[in-house]
Amino acid sequence: MDVTAFRCPRCHGPLNSHTEHLECETASCALLFPVVRGVPVLIDESKSVFRHSDYAGDPLAKPEQSAVQRFALRWLPSLDLNVAAKLNANMMQALLLPDGAQPRILNIGSKHPNGAMSSLYDHPEVECVACDLVYADGVDVIADPVSLPFSDGVFDGVLVDAVLEHCIDPEGVVQEVHRVLRPGGYVYSDTPFMIPVHAGAYDFCRFSALAHRRLFNGFRQIEHGVSSGPAAALGYSIQSVLLAFASSRRSRFAVKGMSRLLFFWIKYLDLLLAKRPGALDAALGTYFIGERLPQPLSDHDLLSSYGGAVPNLYVRSDRD
Ligand SMILES: [Zn+2]
Repeated sequence: MDVTAFRCPRCHGPLNSHTEHLECETASCALLFPVVRGVPVLIDESKSVFRHSDYAGDPLAKPEQSAVQRFALRWLPSLDLNVAAKLNANMMQALLLPDGAQPRILNIGSKHPNGAMSSLYDHPEVECVACDLVYADGVDVIADPVSLPFSDGVFDGVLVDAVLEHCIDPEGVVQEVHRVLRPGGYVYSDTPFMIPVHAGAYDFCRFSALAHRRLFNGFRQIEHGVSSGPAAALGYSIQSVLLAFASSRRSRFAVKGMSRLLFFWIKYLDLLLAKRPGALDAALGTYFIGERLPQPLSDHDLLSSYGGAVPNLYVRSDRD
């Protein structure tokens, strides 16, 4: 996306480009945004926990990994298995890439090299705009998804994979996703439910399957279900019990490596469980694929989309 297509994250006005910063053209706003290492930092500080100064000097980045850590992450088997990744990637490609289409897609949270949707954002016919809160290869803009720096309706699709749990205001983020999608545009979301804290201070929320569905009440449901099931959640729970005995970074790293070696196989039970209603009630994570609607659905209607196995707390009485 050309820099002229970015907008002020507060007022959505156009931006003037200067050598080391961008400036909102709206006279009543006139916010300034730094450009660091060639990447614009389009954050509205009044709505974010991040500051422009976080990106000056040595800007925010993901922690460096040692060679041992990189080796372990690459070669030790994972505790997690996304049982729906391939089907969901095919579904999104079918929705966004009918014959001759060249969709523009926003990937919030940047490019996970092994993410469920990597085949989509690497597709030659797709223009993928990657936004993130840290520098990484392929990031086009630093932005907080609670105030996206784009005009209304400019994207055909939005990917928000493993992001919402890290947002202080996930409802506000989904409102922004809805705003920047064109009418009838598509969203793919994946977010955890039964998983321990995994990003230190930047980990705020968990969503049951129905809570995840409700976040996207401005969308028609196309697919919704278990991405990683209760067996993977069990693997992480065992690891968490063991991690509670560890305190140093080195001992935590050792426990994680040992857990992966001993308990990686548990996740494969999800291949048997993922489609069962009970799996939805204790899933490690769930996905949602939806089509943007002009008006939100009512909470009353959304309750009927519960697909788990637990009896309802309230039932209609047969007595007069
Ligand atoms: Zn502005």
